[in-house]
Amino acid sequence: MLDRAAEIADDPDAVADRHRGKLLGTLFFEPSTRTKMSFTAAMKRLGGDIVDMGPVDQSSVKKGESLADTVRVVEGYADALVMRHPLEGSAKMASEFIDVPLINAGDGAGQHPTQTLLDLYTIRENAGFDDLTVGIMGDLKYGRTVHSLAHALTNFDAQQHFISPESLQLPRGVRYDLHEAGASMREHTELGGVLETLDVLYVTRIQRERFPDENEYREVAGQYQIDADTLDAAKDELTVMHPLPRVDEIAADVDETEHAQYFQQAHNGVPVRMALLDLILEGSA
Ligand code: ASP
Repeated sequence: MLDRAAEIADDPDAVADRHRGKLLGTLFFEPSTRTKMSFTAAMKRLGGDIVDMGPVDQSSVKKGESLADTVRVVEGYADALVMRHPLEGSAKMASEFIDVPLINAGDGAGQHPTQTLLDLYTIRENAGFDDLTVGIMGDLKYGRTVHSLAHALTNFDAQQHFISPESLQLPRGVRYDLHEAGASMREHTELGGVLETLDVLYVTRIQRERFPDENEYREVAGQYQIDADTLDAAKDELTVMHPLPRVDEIAADVDETEHAQYFQQAHNGVPVRMALLDLILEGSA
């Protein structure tokens, strides 16, 4: 998939007409900027188009329609669906009701697998996968991009360091899966002492919307921030990534450094999602 994405990035014109007439149904039950827009761009750049459910509060969900019914209807309008929903497991559940492919664009605090594809693409472009040391910092509990990336990295020669407050450590299920997959991993509460060993630092936002109690959020908000001075201790080649949106985890002065790759990372979402859609629409995924 990453090879295909690289080919597409090099020569997007070669696929500009490849899926003319095909439609992607987009169902976003939660806010999205990058994922929705890059799927839309990807589909249009393959010659296809999208049909969008629109905002949840203007859809039949407001009238009490179940998710199962919504996807059963919408599958008749499109060749594949992409869905984001606040409930963990919702994408898997919805896919069981329909015959067209359904892509999980984020299921609550569960997984965000297409983000991981573009994260892997970005890691490969910048650090490569040989003898790789990755630090993943921030909200490891509710951060779905973290859960998907940590799983995916177990397929590579990667050492993973997880840096977070104790209350936001990896969920037990994710930690268990990583152990089962034989991941080389360590957990920390401080970035200091680990930073200098890292090839990639993947910073994440504290997922305010997932906290059951706003006070709990306030206790951890504002911790685990980096600025350009923090990175003095890092390797010159350190790649700093973030799935975005950032709130205050990465100060603006990091943007000017060679380390910052998060905007390029977001741009990589288009060729990567083109490669994914291409595989799915060809029926070979
Ligand atoms: N955009 C990512 C997501 O949808 C990361 C975030 O929201 O913090 O999970």
